[in-house]
Amino acid sequence: RAKSREGNAFEYFSKKFGEAVKREFRVKTALQQADYHQEFIMNYQPIINVETNHVTGVEALIRWESPTLGGVSPGEFIPIAEKYGYIHSIGNWVLRQVCTEMLALTQKREAAFTVSINVSVQQLESDTCVENIKAILAETTFPAAHLILEVTEETSISNSTIVRQSINDLVKLGIRVSIDDFGTGYSSLEKLHRLSVHELKIDQSFVQDIENTTGIVEAIIAMGKSLSLQLVAEGVETQEQFEFLKQTKCDYVQGYFFSKPLPLDAFEKYLNQSQQSS
Ligand code: C2E
Ligand code: MG
Ligand code: MG
Ligand code: MG
Repeated sequence: RAKSREGNAFEYFSKKFGEAVKREFRVKTALQQADYHQEFIMNYQPIINVETNHVTGVEALIRWESPTLGGVSPGEFIPIAEKYGYIHSIGNWVLRQVCTEMLALTQKREAAFTVSINVSVQQLESDTCVENIKAILAETTFPAAHLILEVTEETSISNSTIVRQSINDLVKLGIRVSIDDFGTGYSSLEKLHRLSVHELKIDQSFVQDIENTTGIVEAIIAMGKSLSLQLVAEGVETQEQFEFLKQTKCDYVQGYFFSKPLPLDAFEKYLNQSQQSS
């Protein structure tokens, strides 16, 4: 009996594994054949200044509608794009698209308005990374001072000297760097201090479980402030979470409580309405 149960478990897991491998292959193939301008669009999620309640920035998030697979989330396809080397061309498409779409908006607003773009560690590892980003900024005329690049905490603690060099060179261009999903990795104060980053984004898992994580969130905010970093809380879904972050003096918030990530036209409407009501 025990034997047959083991046999079933083995069959179950090997079947699941086979399905995952097939799915990865399908996603990889669809990515390889993708027509970026037809299949990708950028969504924009407002970032709000806690003190003034004004929208002072935005995070750009990619969306993919594949003709063969339908909608595929970035949480699924970005790791596959990273694994098979497609992240370079996708990352360049994202940078060019966002800088083009956000240029007018950034120029229209007098107050400094920031545009945050996620970049993968493989992009920073490329020795043409900085030149490349510089060229896209020149081509689109998007001002470096309005750009924030979000890297994951894992990236920031990477021991790769190329990554560190890329980050430092980007900062020299006037671009700001933010550590995304902060608190889930293992960065030391020393590493954070050595990298010229400007901002920490507190991971949404802490924000959403705020009843049980107040100590952690307070500690991250205190630590970030002591290093003169801006603090952003992501994944804010409720009034209670927002009130807590306000009390704890978090600088910026982002999440469904304010708005989901929106297509460009809906984001522009959201901005116009929030300007009128404040
Ligand atoms: P991330 O950069 O940490 O983005 C935050 C994720 O949380 C986004 O998921 C966003 O839609 C979602 N989110 C925002 N507010 C809330 C909320 O209140 N509640 C909940 N439950 N979720 C919220 P999304 O868009 O599916 O992106 C997932 C991840 O994929 C991103 O995590 C980022 O790591 C990656 N990604 C997205 N776009 C790009 C891109 O253009 N380039 C690269 N390299 N990675 C990207
Ligand atoms: Mg992000
Ligand atoms: Mg995040
Ligand atoms: Mg993430």
